[in-house]
Amino acid sequence: MSSLERIVSCIDGYDANALPVEAARAVVRSLVTPIAVNERVAVRAALGRVLGEDVVSPTNVPAHDNSAMDGWAVRSADLLPQADTRLREIGASFAGRPFGTAVGAGECVRVMTGAVMPAGADAVVLQEVVRTEGDAVIVPPGQARGQHVRFAGEDIAAGQSALRAGQPIRPAELGLLASLGIAEVAVRRRPRVAFFSTGDELVSVGRPLAEGEAYDSNRYTLYGMLTRLGCEVIDMGVVRDDRASLARALGDASAAADAVVTSGGVSVGEADFTREVLASLGEVLFWKIAMRPGRPMAVGKLGDAFFFGLPGNPVAVMVTFYQFVRDALLALAGRTDAFELPALRVPCETALRKKPGRTEFQRGILTRDASGQWTVRVTGSQGSGVLRSMSEANCFIVLEHDRGSVQPGDLVSVQVMDGLA
Ligand code: AMP
Ligand code: MG
Repeated sequence: MSSLERIVSCIDGYDANALPVEAARAVVRSLVTPIAVNERVAVRAALGRVLGEDVVSPTNVPAHDNSAMDGWAVRSADLLPQADTRLREIGASFAGRPFGTAVGAGECVRVMTGAVMPAGADAVVLQEVVRTEGDAVIVPPGQARGQHVRFAGEDIAAGQSALRAGQPIRPAELGLLASLGIAEVAVRRRPRVAFFSTGDELVSVGRPLAEGEAYDSNRYTLYGMLTRLGCEVIDMGVVRDDRASLARALGDASAAADAVVTSGGVSVGEADFTREVLASLGEVLFWKIAMRPGRPMAVGKLGDAFFFGLPGNPVAVMVTFYQFVRDALLALAGRTDAFELPALRVPCETALRKKPGRTEFQRGILTRDASGQWTVRVTGSQGSGVLRSMSEANCFIVLEHDRGSVQPGDLVSVQVMDGLA
């Protein structure tokens, strides 16, 4: 059994000619193996990359017990439980300027937020509750041992795991790495992705259209989606609908890249031709996915490269990319966190016609109504060639496989596009 056959034999409900979206997603997920090659970069250059190694903290964070507030550091054993306690202030500790002497019985030290706790003190009394008379500090009852103190190692202890390989590096991780004193970090090599469009009718921008021609827009949306996802892109242009051109382009692409993404040429009319070329270069599954838009799609391996043959229609390209290819490329990039797109449930303002038996990804506009409640409505025409529906949308309205039509006010699932990378 080939590796692809083994994968699909484990998937529930696998039927290449009417493939449920969840089954397609499961195949794509199990197809991909992560790139395990690391490179070292300065911490700031790691923003948006995938961490390549576990990071164990070399130090305690914070490094010392310190005050969480402005006030006085005291010994809690000195404080009377039922009455005011009079203490003598013997000095002050500021952030970055510790007080070097231990606090003795009946003594206290003025402390500012972030100041190292003086030896002997075990609590901070807020300045707002204290009265002072000369160097006497009068502390009311009701203070607790350990209050308003940040303990050494409370955030991360020395030797403790701080970050795991496979984690995306966001601003929080940059700060966390810096807080550990780490200046350089190992990140995964970016996936290299070659992409091209197929179609005799397609023309690149910058030249006028003759009759029957159309501008190639898919290479632009793919460029944008791949770049935002953190891939290194190889744009291979438009490839004509002939056997030799397609074979050459696929051969070059799969030799140069970790993954190859194409658009067009997998619909029923064109599939036979593409199928033969792909079969001669690797192992590829042809699917009719039970979804709209984006029914035809091909998935497999050409040599060592993963292959995704997306439909030609501009909206179908984006939907299949976000629903399947995104998952695969994030796994390839080495991500191990939960990167599935989250879904929200909101009321739909408009009625939507929908047949059970396929998943639909309608383009929606999520807004807040006058009462502050989030609601969604569809953008205009939902044709799979109408790229404007993607541009106007800020979310996908996901109508699940078994779902029927939607009445105004019914709850629907939406995937927010903002931040989609
Ligand atoms: P296909 O899947 O090749 O049959 O293409 C389906 C539809 O999408 C046709 O109307 C094509 O003209 C259109 N199409 C295919 N590729 C592109 C592209 N790269 N840019 C814009 N439209 C395309
Ligand atoms: Mg075509």
